[in-house]
Amino acid sequence: MELKKLIAQKIKELQPDMIEASKKFVSINSVNPRTGGPGEKEVSEYLQAVLQSWKFDEIKRYDAPDSAVPYGYRPNIIAIYKGKNPSKTLWFMTHMDKVPAGDISLWNTDPYTAVEKDGKIYGRGSEDNGSSMISSIFAVKALMDMGIRPENNIGIALVSDEETGSEYGIQYLIDQKVFGKNDWFVIPDSGEPDGAFIELAEKSMMRFKITTQGKQAHASMPNLAKNAVRAGMNFAVAVDKFLNETYNVTDPLFDPPYSTFEPTKKDNNVENINTIPGTDVQHFDCRVLPMYDVNDIMAKVKDMAREYSRKYDVTITIDDSDKRNAPAPTPEDHDLVKLLKASIKEMTGIIPRTGGIGGGTCAAHLRAYGIPCVVWATLDEMAHQPNEYIKIEYLLKDASVYAYMMSKF
Ligand SMILES: [Zn+2]
Repeated sequence: MELKKLIAQKIKELQPDMIEASKKFVSINSVNPRTGGPGEKEVSEYLQAVLQSWKFDEIKRYDAPDSAVPYGYRPNIIAIYKGKNPSKTLWFMTHMDKVPAGDISLWNTDPYTAVEKDGKIYGRGSEDNGSSMISSIFAVKALMDMGIRPENNIGIALVSDEETGSEYGIQYLIDQKVFGKNDWFVIPDSGEPDGAFIELAEKSMMRFKITTQGKQAHASMPNLAKNAVRAGMNFAVAVDKFLNETYNVTDPLFDPPYSTFEPTKKDNNVENINTIPGTDVQHFDCRVLPMYDVNDIMAKVKDMAREYSRKYDVTITIDDSDKRNAPAPTPEDHDLVKLLKASIKEMTGIIPRTGGIGGGTCAAHLRAYGIPCVVWATLDEMAHQPNEYIKIEYLLKDASVYAYMMSKF
């Protein structure tokens, strides 16, 4: 029988185990500690036990010290299935942390109980990043069961802390020099329902916090106050207009094809209506086309802050520590891209297309070191949403594409 049929058959055989693992992943709360969760310890112990029961040649833990959790570390697991004549490793990296459930009233089921219904598994983390984690580890299991050893190494990296910046996850592993300069990465943490989209580039990330400091007073005595909300709102509106009108070039590689500058979170100020707030805090989240330098943009915003401070007799300060210019994209004609495209075509008949996205994945950290990365998965884009789910059909399809890709590496 042809290889592709054997792989599809083997994955089908593994389906019950994949569903069980996917449900287990959902049922262990691993919400990132920086968003109020218990962290990845428990889920990492489950996953490590699964990997240890298979035929990996090497399994290692890299615990990043972190005092944000009572147990003091953030786990990262790597597992290697050695090739016949290995000179490099093809890594599949997924993240173990999850975002919080959000407004519980919007969920039809308990977010931390996996519910299987109509060919889907519901629950927080089922898609982000559970589906691709299960697909990629079971792809290796399929090769092991079939007795297939690729030419080079296949690596599995299960990391912490993707949702709040990756300092204790992928960045920690990079700093520990876990990866070689010839290594390639598949980061299945973004994708589209037709399974055709391969991400090769990301926009620059630019987040900033505007703090306007005025003077609090009773609402009936504005003559004694410096209204921080009025100054802060006027400034935020001016910044919004300036950014969207100035940095408006489009690039069809990206979806959406332009830079985005969005006012998002607004911090609470006073509890009561009859007080003029002395402080106003507004946040922006911006995803900027790589042609612009985020440092130049922020310098202009800071100039405006000085102008508005004078105009409203307040002090406007900007915290823009959370920003980074996008690294160079992975080239479209790289052999890694060709291998993934060929595997998708072979296993699904789909003709893939490549492009860039506005969201940030672990790929940006690796591309910054010149390591080639492809981001691909079949997803209904339910990440961070209420009633997050993954279709079981996608679990199987993606696992067969990964297994084929691994077998040809
Ligand atoms: Zn994710």
